Amino acid sequence: MIRLSKSFVSQAEIDSVTEVLKRGFLGMGDEVRNFEDELAAYIGITDVVCVNTGTAALQLALQAADIRAGDEVLVPSLTYVASFQAVTASGAVPIACDVRESDGLLDLDDAERRITKKTRAIMPVHYASFLGDIDSVYGFARKHQLRVIEDAAHAFGCTHNGRRVGSFGDIVCFSFDGIKNITSGEGGAVVSADRALMDKVRDARLLGVERDSERRYQGERSWEFDVTSQGWRYHMSDVMAAIGRVQLRRFESELAPKRITLAHHYRDKLTGVPKIRLLTNNASGVVPHIFPICVLGGRRNEVRSALESAGIQTGIHYLPNHLLTYFSGSRQSLPVVERLYSELLTLPLHPRLEVADCDKVVEVISETLKN
Ligand SMILES: *Cc1c(COP(=O)(O)O)cnc(C)c1O
Repeated sequence: MIRLSKSFVSQAEIDSVTEVLKRGFLGMGDEVRNFEDELAAYIGITDVVCVNTGTAALQLALQAADIRAGDEVLVPSLTYVASFQAVTASGAVPIACDVRESDGLLDLDDAERRITKKTRAIMPVHYASFLGDIDSVYGFARKHQLRVIEDAAHAFGCTHNGRRVGSFGDIVCFSFDGIKNITSGEGGAVVSADRALMDKVRDARLLGVERDSERRYQGERSWEFDVTSQGWRYHMSDVMAAIGRVQLRRFESELAPKRITLAHHYRDKLTGVPKIRLLTNNASGVVPHIFPICVLGGRRNEVRSALESAGIQTGIHYLPNHLLTYFSGSRQSLPVVERLYSELLTLPLHPRLEVADCDKVVEVISETLKN
């Protein structure tokens, strides 16, 4: 069986978690603070706030940016439902936008048509770890006076024009769930150079208790405090951070190169295979979280079944969110993303996969499409 995705945890993570468990303090303390400092150093920014999921990171980022009930947030429909749920959790309305055929990223022309007086933010999604023309997204945001919340759940460790994702821009959110580029079991992080915003995120992750993070890092708690805004219990625990810290240490040497090598190999082998279209998202600096391809001619499901019969798991990233009941409000049709959805097929990609596994995957695809 070749799995679509898989966590890659070594003895070092097990040892690190065991040490935390033996210390007998499982909450948010030193381990989280160290993980945040190490993430900040790696990304090249001063401030990182860790939370318990990537979805929570997005929600708190929106809340801290003062996005609230009635506000509209532009989001590409081709994303995990987490992006949309984070917007509704903040009280705002996600406005589903179409995507570009070539790479599945937000189509700014379509987004522009959906601007209203209520539009307050735009949430580009770095689909398959590609940032596309993120500079144009920032130009668009300046023009329309929008906050930018980057859903960088796929893009941890990527660079764009030599700059690390998170080291530039407005607000950037990462996910460390079990199968992302690095994992802390579950987890996420908000990154921004906006100090006031980061203070709000820091308080909001601990039920809105003012400056509780500082105290917890000193092994203390706040007993007398004030609360001035809605908070949530979204902080990260030391157990999670213990996994994340080791993953971060292994990222450049082990995890990232493996993902890059496998994706390059798929590309080489699939180039020229009839009925296969590769997305144009293979820029340098991409550390691919997933490897989606397009199967043309209405043959996606046939290829998917053949792979399944050969013991190869595949995925479909993603069912467009505007087709989900909860988000279908305006019932508009988004032609590009709907067509893409019928063609997309995500091939196995994770650091435990071998080049020979990719060869097997490509062989089944080529054989199926021969006839
Ligand atoms: C994984 C993911 C998220 C949410 O992250 P969690 O840590 O699972 O909550 C958000 N957006 C996208 C595109 C994702 O892939």
